[in-house]
Amino acid sequence: MTAPFAYLDHAATTPLRAEALEAMLPFLTEHFGNPSGSHAVSRRARAAVDQARVTVAAALGCDAGEVVFTGSGTEADNLALAGVVGRRGGSVVCTAVEHHAVLHAARACAGRVVGVRPDGVVDLDRLALALDDGVSVVSVMLANNEVGTIQPLAEVAAVVRERAPGAALHTDAVQAFAWLDVAASAAPADLVAVSAHKFGGPKGVGALVVRSGTEVAPVLHGGGQERDRRSGTHNVAGIVGMAAAMAATVDARAATVERVGALRDRLADGLLASVPGAVETGDRSTRVAGSCHLRFPGIESEALLVLLDDAGLCASAGSACASGAMEPSHVLAAMGVPRHEALSSLRLSLGATTTDDDIDLALGIVPAAVARLRGSPRVA
Ligand code: PLP
Repeated sequence: MTAPFAYLDHAATTPLRAEALEAMLPFLTEHFGNPSGSHAVSRRARAAVDQARVTVAAALGCDAGEVVFTGSGTEADNLALAGVVGRRGGSVVCTAVEHHAVLHAARACAGRVVGVRPDGVVDLDRLALALDDGVSVVSVMLANNEVGTIQPLAEVAAVVRERAPGAALHTDAVQAFAWLDVAASAAPADLVAVSAHKFGGPKGVGALVVRSGTEVAPVLHGGGQERDRRSGTHNVAGIVGMAAAMAATVDARAATVERVGALRDRLADGLLASVPGAVETGDRSTRVAGSCHLRFPGIESEALLVLLDDAGLCASAGSACASGAMEPSHVLAAMGVPRHEALSSLRLSLGATTTDDDIDLALGIVPAAVARLRGSPRVA
C-alpha cells in the first residue's frame, strides 16, 4: 500500500493531461517528420503544427500568424524583451515581482524595475513615473507565480499608452492561463507569453503572441522557422500536446476555477484557523484560484518543506538558496514582507487535478509539521 500523498505544487509544474498525451503519441512514433521539409512525412507534421497554431491562437485571442512557438515560457519572455529591444532599441521597464525569466532578461537590456503595493499589485503611479519615450517595452505579468496576484492589465495598458505610446506591452501569462481567460485578460498586451507545462501540457514548449504591428528581432538564429522569429526545428509533439492541453483547459476552465477556488479557500481558512500566528500573504480577492500563500512566523520554510515532504505533501517556499544562505523571495520583499517572515513562507499551489483528499491531507500535515518545528506537541 502506498502512503497518502498530495501534490500541491502546480505552480511549479502540472501533470500531463490525458488529452495532451493522446495527441502527442503519434508524433513521437509514426508521424516523426520535420515540418520544414516538403515530402509527405514532413507535410503530415506540418499539418499538425498548423492545426495546433489555430487552436493556440483561438485560446489566446489572436490570429494564427501571431503565434510564435518557443522552447519554454522563459524563451517566450526573453524573445519578447530582447526581441523588441533588438528591433527598436530603447529600454525595458518591468515590475519588481516578475519571474526571473523577465527580471533577468530586463536586466540584460538595462531595464528599470517598478515597485508594487503591499498586496502585490503594480503601483500605477510609480509605473507612470518610470515611463518615457526611451522605453520600448513594458513587461507586467498577468498572474504571479508565488502569490498568484492578478495584475490589472487594462489599467497598466492605459498608463503605458499615455506615458510611452511607442512602447510595446508584454505580459507573462505563464501562471495565468490555467485560471484566466487569457484571450480577454491579455487583450491589451502586444506580446503574451505562455508555457505548456503550467496547464497540463508537456515541459519544454511555450508560445509568444506577437501581435501584428509589433516586431521582434530573433534571439535564436538559424533555419528561419516561425517566419524568422524563432529558428529551430519545431517540437512537433510538444506543440501538439500544448494545443490539446490548451483546448481542454479552456473547455473546463470555468468549472475548474469554481471547484479549485473553493478547495483553496477551505485550505487557506483551515490553516489560518489551525496554525497559531499564521498569516496569509496578499489579498485573496486579487489572486488566481489555485494559489494559497501563507507565512508561519517562527519557523523556517526550508525545514518545513522537509517535514512536509517526509509526510507526503509536495509544496514549495518560493525562496532561493544563494551561497548557502536562504534568501527571501524578491516577490515578498517587493511586497514589503519583513525578511524573517518571508523566510517562513509556504506556497501551496492547487491545480485541475487537486482533490478534496489532497486538501484533507494538507490540513492534517501542515499544522502538525509547524507544531513540531515550534517544539510543541500539539497545535491549538
Ligand atoms: N514565467 C512565470 C510566471 C513562471 O512561473 C515560469 C515558470 O515557473 C516561467 C515564466 C518560465 O516558464 P518555463 O518553465 O516554461 O521556462
